[in-house]
Amino acid sequence: MLGTQRAESAGRPRSRGDVVLEISGLSVDYGFTDDAVRAVVDASLTLRRGEVLGLAGESGSGKSTLAYAVTRLLRAPGVITAGEVRFHGAEGDYDLLAADAQTMRELRWSQLAVVFQSAMNALNPVLTIGSQLTDVLKAHRPDMNRQARKERAAELLNLVGITADRLSSFPHELSGGMRQRVMIAMALALEPEVLIMDEPTTALDVVTQREILEELVALRDRLGFAVLFITHDLSLLIELADTIAVMYAGRVVEYAPAAALFRSPRHPYTAGLLNSFPGLHGERVAMTGIPGSPPDLRHVPEGCPFNPRCRYAMDVCRQDAPVLISLPSAGRRAASCWLQAEGFIAPEPLALPEPTTVGARIVARPGALAAELPGSDPQDPYIEAAGSAL
Ligand code: SF4
Repeated sequence: MLGTQRAESAGRPRSRGDVVLEISGLSVDYGFTDDAVRAVVDASLTLRRGEVLGLAGESGSGKSTLAYAVTRLLRAPGVITAGEVRFHGAEGDYDLLAADAQTMRELRWSQLAVVFQSAMNALNPVLTIGSQLTDVLKAHRPDMNRQARKERAAELLNLVGITADRLSSFPHELSGGMRQRVMIAMALALEPEVLIMDEPTTALDVVTQREILEELVALRDRLGFAVLFITHDLSLLIELADTIAVMYAGRVVEYAPAAALFRSPRHPYTAGLLNSFPGLHGERVAMTGIPGSPPDLRHVPEGCPFNPRCRYAMDVCRQDAPVLISLPSAGRRAASCWLQAEGFIAPEPLALPEPTTVGARIVARPGALAAELPGSDPQDPYIEAAGSAL
């Protein structure tokens, strides 16, 4: 059973849609001196029960650091300098940044599980899949005997589409996709309430990626856990996630329901990312992408960190950093850009992607995005084609 040191409100009934993880003003530095790298700056996110929250951004934008900080797996010289992370679990409320090591050990895996990027590195190469699965159960479920652990391990493999005869296989005997499935099965072994997935399908081909993400969505629907899904691939999140947070230079720069973010991005960086995907139809055009590179976090530009790459940059952008401004919307929306502040007007509308552009990479639920977009046809032949072509 979980430790009770910081458990509050234990036994409170929970329902889908309740907030399960609350991150407020989280800041993380690498280093302790004045020239420390500010890897995450004042990040605030909310994850609801049963929700998939996507965290997108280029490499080095602070996504993984944020996940490591939330689970207290950050290693020196990483240091959490500000903020609060609250986990509202079925067995109680926890202040994760203040919880002692024993409480964190009990919460990790049983309540908050993490799937890391490289399954081959995360699995022990000299132990069979079965031993690794039963080891998790042995450590966290002392009430289970050997036979029950073996049966549960087989059940977990089945859950992710692998037959039980693979329990005796070593990791090198499985394909990359199967190893990643095993990692997901291990993460789900204790039925956690929150699953944090850090680029779980990045190294896989698109067909395997599609299969795994479909399974993930089906498992989420069946078991009801919430997912914090970290990836650099915004097109994947548009289809998979309910809500998306976009990070740049350690800051959350836009936060919106997935369909709204796709339909009308409010930050030039998000618009640039969305325009970096080739269209499925129409004229062939040269891809421009976003000019420049993400900043060196030791020397972040004055004002808005995105200003050297932003085609809309104004004088104010080079002097003062914008704050995350809540925007009027049916869902939770916010953007950190002076263009969203009163009194500032964009010199031209943000360039929007072609409605079916992202369909080229839609993987999890073909047609779902089209169904959510006003005026778009769920039977759109391009989105249908994108779904069936994979
Ligand atoms: Fe561009 Fe200015 Fe908005 Fe930054 S604040 S994204 S520089 S318009």
